[in-house]
Amino acid sequence: MDRRLYNESPYIKDWQTEVREVAEKDGKYHVTLAETAFYPEQGGQLADYGTIDGVPVEGLYERDCTVYHILPSAPANRVVSCRLDFARRFDHMQQHTGQHILSNVFEQLFKADTSSFHMGEEDASIELSMPDIPAQAIKAAEDKVNEYLYRDPSVKTHVVSPEEARRFPGVTPPEGADVVRVVEIETVEYNACCGTHVSRLGEIGIIKIVRTEKMGAGQTRAYFKCGRRALQDYQVKHDVVATLGRQYKVTETELVQRIDQQAAQLKAATKEIEALKNRLLDIEATEMAKSVTSPLIVRSYEDRHFEELNFLGKHIMKNGSFVLILSSVPDMRLVFARGEKFTDINCGKLFKEHLQAYKGKGGGSPNWANAGFASVEDMKRFEAFLLEHVGELNPGK
Ligand SMILES: [Zn+2]
Repeated sequence: MDRRLYNESPYIKDWQTEVREVAEKDGKYHVTLAETAFYPEQGGQLADYGTIDGVPVEGLYERDCTVYHILPSAPANRVVSCRLDFARRFDHMQQHTGQHILSNVFEQLFKADTSSFHMGEEDASIELSMPDIPAQAIKAAEDKVNEYLYRDPSVKTHVVSPEEARRFPGVTPPEGADVVRVVEIETVEYNACCGTHVSRLGEIGIIKIVRTEKMGAGQTRAYFKCGRRALQDYQVKHDVVATLGRQYKVTETELVQRIDQQAAQLKAATKEIEALKNRLLDIEATEMAKSVTSPLIVRSYEDRHFEELNFLGKHIMKNGSFVLILSSVPDMRLVFARGEKFTDINCGKLFKEHLQAYKGKGGGSPNWANAGFASVEDMKRFEAFLLEHVGELNPGK
């Protein structure tokens, strides 16, 4: 069993101690120390980073009441100097203590229990017994939880026997524990907890819920950020809002309305463009139908998309009975269609029987079919095949 310095004070970041055991496993060194402030991942809290005699600790785990430190090389000295990445640790203390008070507030305001806590590198989250958390509930919880931070009560740790732990209101000691750490947020709550906490709630700075996710079975997960994470989140979002405000030349409060307006304008403009394109296609089709001398219309386009050609084909057919082969080179797709005079041609059947030989995929009805190809060459070969086929049928007779 080693001495856990983080239980005595989570603010210890430099210490000297003796190396107890070093075991080599798969080229890494698993080291135990007489005293450690390195917190292994447990209770929803992430593991610490740091160095032992300047060598970075690559991993931590606990076994038989001892913390193992994984190092890339064996310590050269019996007595080593350890250093904690305290910025990371303090962040964990902010998120973890933030979770205590946030869970408490949800319990007070909405009788919601917290069933789990997860701390990620970006967000922390709690799972709450609420089917949904509406926007006004989020705001109410944020307001109340931050009020607690302004009041700045102290956070104390009591290391006691299980019997003594039971005397603290609401505390149930974990089964089989010899000693229990009871974390007290002064005048607010007591909790049996083994994590690391700030010494006053004010050190958390700010708590912000950033999003929620419905989990089903009456549960919702609330993602939140505390302290520096919340500040950084605000900085990023402020930059986004300020940039958009400059681009749209409006104040922050007018931004959403302005973006909604622009989206509506864009929708209307897109609709208008579609209508104009349709009219143009109609004019093009009418002129083409008038100018052709044969009912067989074959066109291959280097710069037009298939969807447009499909529309063009439909407009052409409104002007008479033709046989059409329209192909789009960029999309490697073609449409093959015939008017009611050409009942000898069955477009869909033809595609079904021959497309595969040209590595094409598609199909259609007797009077309208389309296909896509793996290469322009395949499409051209199929086009030639179609021409040969309709040539034999003498279209127009
Ligand atoms: Zn805790």
